[in-house]
Amino acid sequence: MARVTVFDRILRGEIPCHRVYEDDRVLAFLDIAPQSRGHLLVIPKEAKATLDELSDESAAAVGRVLPRLVRALAAVTGTPHLNVLLNNGGPAGQAVPHVHFHLIPRLRPGNDPGAGLETVWKPGSLGEEEGALTAAALTEALAAEALAAEAAAAGS
Ligand code: 5GP
Repeated sequence: MARVTVFDRILRGEIPCHRVYEDDRVLAFLDIAPQSRGHLLVIPKEAKATLDELSDESAAAVGRVLPRLVRALAAVTGTPHLNVLLNNGGPAGQAVPHVHFHLIPRLRPGNDPGAGLETVWKPGSLGEEEGALTAAALTEALAAEALAAEAAAAGS
């Protein structure tokens, strides 16, 4: 059975939050410890810990609402600049094991208690052989998943 997280409790109304958007599959609300003003969490109602476990339907529902939320944040904060972040799994920094996207506005320091996400991006280099091998392995993994889904659909 899936572990009950703080976000499940928010979904059930057991813990209060500042709700911004809700539909049948998605809830968006303000992060309780924001990196900047407007820091939003966007969660599927489906209780899955990580993105790889999420159904296509929930993923599509979340993806559908993201641009709208970004536009609303731009209107309210005055900047369209933000970072979208999903920590997938504990080692990637995920504290709450229920899928959630962070929308973190990039505000100018001084305008806000928090300027937004601090990112340190260290560019590597992609060798031709490594790129070809990695892309081929990923394509193969996707094809295997599609085959498994077809087989499951045919068997049901
Ligand atoms: P993670 O590290 O899992 O990607 O992010 C979890 C986020 O959930 C954190 O930014 C944290 O501030 C937020 N959070 C944790 N508990 C609550 C809560 O009870 N209410 C709200 N609104 N946000 C929470």
